[in-house]
Amino acid sequence: MRRLRSRWQPVVSRAPEVRRTAHRRNGGRPPVILVQDVSRTFETGQIKVHALRGVTLRVERGDFVAIMGRSGSGKSTLMNILGCLDFATSGRYLIDGTDVSHMDEDALADLRNRKIGFVFQSFNLIPRTNALANVELPLAYAGLARAERRRRAIAALESMGMGGRLDHQPSELSGGEQQRVAVARAIVVNPSLVLADEPTGNLDSRATADVLAIFAALNSEGRTIVLITHEPDVAARAKRVIRLSDGEVVQDERLSGVHDPPPLASGSPAAAGEHQRPRLGGPA
Ligand code: ADP
Ligand code: MG
Repeated sequence: MRRLRSRWQPVVSRAPEVRRTAHRRNGGRPPVILVQDVSRTFETGQIKVHALRGVTLRVERGDFVAIMGRSGSGKSTLMNILGCLDFATSGRYLIDGTDVSHMDEDALADLRNRKIGFVFQSFNLIPRTNALANVELPLAYAGLARAERRRRAIAALESMGMGGRLDHQPSELSGGEQQRVAVARAIVVNPSLVLADEPTGNLDSRATADVLAIFAALNSEGRTIVLITHEPDVAARAKRVIRLSDGEVVQDERLSGVHDPPPLASGSPAAAGEHQRPRLGGPA
């Protein structure tokens, strides 16, 4: 995890009108994500890499955004900033109306734990630890009592169709099953935002369809999703597709309305298997 807080330099002064504007447009609620003119520069020796160059992005609650772009275009850098794992070199980032650049490490860790669910290409489950304990972990960080942790973790795993695998360790699960456990872990704290960096990158087409159906269901119940993908078929399931090139947003295309259901890619295995859409409980 990269934490380069000391490098953060505010170039935009704290302008309160930004926050007021954010609140006005969405019935008084700020957007989940407000990125304003964010740049991120990496300095390695003499070389400066401009990974992000002045990215501005606004994502409303309930949207489902796919981020595409060639390798090296800045997708993971943007995702790390959205997830408060890294900081902009300049510009600002507000999550749910809160400017993260003014928060200390403890407050940030708390915000990450409460508001953001992460899903990774390589699942990132804890090895030699069963599915139930993996999903309970964020609840332990949140300070929940043991019985309540257990109850919520079981419910999250059941909603992913993994109720029969509570005691399985990651090595005893298929890739698709591991990713379903990882999604259960991401949503068990009831986050406002789910961030996924190539979540289907290591899955076969059937497991990809399963995981996409899960993301569609999560979004249908009101969760905001930002997903990085290389695959056009995966991006076609989002409501909005943003393309990065050389650290800049070069395209921002809306496929369906923020409050409409996510599109079903016609002819895809997931669309055909729609009757198998997972049942998800709990409010977003
Ligand atoms: P993508 O996820 O789209 O493949 P990244 O965001 O990982 O792209 O990287 C964007 C650019 O920033 C690349 O040129 C990459 O080499 C560089 N980069 C990313 N992380 C670092 C780092 N920690 N140190 C130096 N350069 C980095
Ligand atoms: Mg990447």
